[in-house]
Amino acid sequence: MSLNNEIDYGTPASASAEPVSLEIDGHKVTVNAGTSVMRAAAEAGISIPKLCATDHLDPFGSCRMCLVQIEGARGYPASCTTPVAAGMKVTTQNEKLAKLRKGVAELYISDHPLDCLTCSANGNCELQDTVGAVGLREVRYGFDGDNHLKAEKDESNPYFSFDPSKCIVCSRCVRACEEVQGTFALTIDGRGFESKVSPGQNQPFMESECVSCGACVQACPTATLMEKAVIDHGQPEHSTITTCAYCGVGCSFKAEMKGEQLVRMVPDKNGLANHGHSCVKGRFAFGYATHKDRITTPMVRDKITDPWREVSWEEAIQTAASRLKAIQTKYGKDAVGGITSSRCTNEETYLVQKLIRAGFGNNNVDTCARVCHSPTGYGLKTTFGESSGTQTFDSVMQSDVILVIGANPTDGHPVFGSLMKRRLRQGAKLIVVDPREIDLVRNSPHIKADYHLKLRPGTNVAVVTALAHVIVTEGLVDEAFVNERCDVESFNKWRTFVAKPENSPEAVAELTGVPAELLRGAARLYATGGNGAIYYGLGVTEHSQGSTTVIGIANLAMATGNIGREGVGVNPLRGQNNVQGSCDMGSFPHEFVGYRHVSDGATRAQFEAEWGVSLASEPGLRIPNMFTAAIEGSFKGLYVQGEDIAQSDPDINHVHHALRELECLIVQDIFLNETAKFAHVFLPGSSFLEKNGTFTNAERRISPVRKVMKPLAGKEDWEVTQDLSNALGYPMNYTHPSEIMDEIARLTPQFASVSYAKIDAMGSIQWPCNEEHPDGTPIMHADQFVRGKGRFLLTEYVPTTERTNSKYPLILTTGRILSQYNVGAQTRRTANVAWHEEDRLEIHPHDAEVLGVADGDWVGVKSRSGETVLRARVTDRMQPGVVYTTFHFPHSGANVITTDNSDWATNCPEYKVTAVHVAKVAKPSEWQKEYQAFSDDQQSLLDNRIVTAG
Ligand code: SF4
Repeated sequence: MSLNNEIDYGTPASASAEPVSLEIDGHKVTVNAGTSVMRAAAEAGISIPKLCATDHLDPFGSCRMCLVQIEGARGYPASCTTPVAAGMKVTTQNEKLAKLRKGVAELYISDHPLDCLTCSANGNCELQDTVGAVGLREVRYGFDGDNHLKAEKDESNPYFSFDPSKCIVCSRCVRACEEVQGTFALTIDGRGFESKVSPGQNQPFMESECVSCGACVQACPTATLMEKAVIDHGQPEHSTITTCAYCGVGCSFKAEMKGEQLVRMVPDKNGLANHGHSCVKGRFAFGYATHKDRITTPMVRDKITDPWREVSWEEAIQTAASRLKAIQTKYGKDAVGGITSSRCTNEETYLVQKLIRAGFGNNNVDTCARVCHSPTGYGLKTTFGESSGTQTFDSVMQSDVILVIGANPTDGHPVFGSLMKRRLRQGAKLIVVDPREIDLVRNSPHIKADYHLKLRPGTNVAVVTALAHVIVTEGLVDEAFVNERCDVESFNKWRTFVAKPENSPEAVAELTGVPAELLRGAARLYATGGNGAIYYGLGVTEHSQGSTTVIGIANLAMATGNIGREGVGVNPLRGQNNVQGSCDMGSFPHEFVGYRHVSDGATRAQFEAEWGVSLASEPGLRIPNMFTAAIEGSFKGLYVQGEDIAQSDPDINHVHHALRELECLIVQDIFLNETAKFAHVFLPGSSFLEKNGTFTNAERRISPVRKVMKPLAGKEDWEVTQDLSNALGYPMNYTHPSEIMDEIARLTPQFASVSYAKIDAMGSIQWPCNEEHPDGTPIMHADQFVRGKGRFLLTEYVPTTERTNSKYPLILTTGRILSQYNVGAQTRRTANVAWHEEDRLEIHPHDAEVLGVADGDWVGVKSRSGETVLRARVTDRMQPGVVYTTFHFPHSGANVITTDNSDWATNCPEYKVTAVHVAKVAKPSEWQKEYQAFSDDQQSLLDNRIVTAG
């Protein structure tokens, strides 16, 4: 049986519509008004043959298979496009209908290869099923007339094949590309018999606008668009529901297997974050999990100049534990710490911070969220009372005005980006605040940004405060909301502050680069355009005033009453799959699980009782403090699970210096990543396919991660942490991650009613999930803010100390691209490099001309921290004076240039503002030469590793 056998019945009606009763094949059926006859029949258990209908696309009515007879109606209408009506009498089966359907099927088959037995879709082909269902047994027409059987295949896409000889031109792929993905890369070219599916302007897929999301492959009812993995391995046999391990959208997938072989990842229609959609990463880029670079045997060495020595798990764990203990004996218990990962599960992250607090005996734990969304935690907790976004993704479909600040959803959060684009095509207004022309502004068919505030990097606070100035001074405040829901004293102070003339759009126009009239227009639109929703990303947080901008955003939402219901809210778009979760799980040095401060005696007593140890009351070291302490000599041992700080953190020379000073660096990862090149103990990690656990996405949705294959190294990551803890003398005895989640639930008010049984039953749960909200909480702060009254805070603009001058005249800002993910350790080991094989420096044509730089030239990029060399991409996406690069390849050295400036409240690095000098060059930078030599040495030490394990 097909694994893709969800029932597709045409578009469902709105749940709020009036009920309508009709008769189908003599059965009385009651459905909501607006339901199609096809769906009404299906709900009554009556199946109507179909080809072009599918329930995630609008009805189309082109295939003529789903014809029915309706009493009193002329002809044979298509049941997928015909809405029900009260008293309607429908016949779905009779001799005439059978003959008509058989005739239509015969026409399809007469222009279709008769290779069912060898076809890769055999057993999972809707055409085959439909032909069988209508009883077609022979075809009267020969293949000697005009046909498409010799149409040429397009194999240009690395992941799927396009075989037009099998195409029935049902348009499902074209409609999926338009309606679901919103890219409009496919069209039906030609008319009548000549009509055919065409990527772009009749181009190969890879040369078209196609973003390889897989929606067309998913929609295809035949083998025309087919995953190459299925062609190679055959149809999968069994599947497991799990969650994508890439971005913070947290898409649900069916991992479809043949034996132990993962054949494909199919987006799950029941997934509440993605509703059956996907992007190129989650859908196709999973090959890294079995890449030859995986390290599956533990390794140790005394010095980083020694070759690695393969050892047993026992020896590796004992070595790690004894070295950490020796360091603590020699330098004190605070000389060691650890870093949790937003790529790992909640349970794994929880266990690492528990090991550090209870086993190491200090609070020196931090997480990679330090370098991305720590200002979100601070800003939203201070204003609203909870460190999280407020909405579901689906809420955007109720938004009237969408304000996107410092985020690039179509690249960074593609499935949510598609949903947002759908709402924008329906007519919602769009305001984009970004220094660069992101795809929402310039590359999204049928969408036009109403305002693009093209600000200068580093001036977010001035822009957000100026928006507030307009709202306050033009009388656009939702006074009733503020009076009822907010702390009025703080509001009054804020009102006085933002109303000052120096915060007006006119006053900040020169500073921000945003014309005052645009700023005023955007503020009016957000405040008065209906439901206003704010979505923001790292373009907000990764600044010296990241926390201030988050606070400013929260102020805007409260002042306009855009909080606490569908369609509004403040929504941080989380970069990695489990950023929300790793923060929730107590990964910050000052907070236990659930964002409770370590200095709070009652909270600490609760953890001490559960964990059976006394706990430190002082916050521990943040990541940058660990680096500084390592260089100063007081921090000597570090356990890093699943993070690549040697590539991802800013001012890499400083980070590398710190790592070299450590006496024991323990790295747990699936690859020998950049950080592991400085390590003394390497503990092989497990990919998301090899473990059980949960991830929490940007909507606070806790979703299941379920083991699809055995861990290649023999252990899941949580088991390794548990072994290390036991070796250190702090006992842990979990037998399954569900027990870890039970402990989390016991200790955390927001998670009190979460359990694996509930997650499995519901599919996913949005926290808070407790006695008050047993089924979770889709919308936060609905009746009152978590902190009681919403609190306004002043947002004084303080310019960054990172300034341009004659030596460093341009501002560098950084970001991501669709096909690659963060440091690229996973996606670089997949065919996704076909889309992005190097990081480039985007530069405006005017700047390029002044510097004599042409597209593709090598350019040296020098900052106060360091220098690297990239190739230039000349593009008017950029504004003059600002350059941009991604950071997916280690040899690009993007973080060699970024500085150690950071957010005043959280130390989140200021990745988005670096003053640089750019010049055309002919050779790599000194750093790149040194990096290459070091990498070559480390590769040699790995290749020549000593194999002693049995
Ligand atoms: Fe995975 Fe994010 Fe793509 Fe969804 S949008 S498939 S979670 S990378």
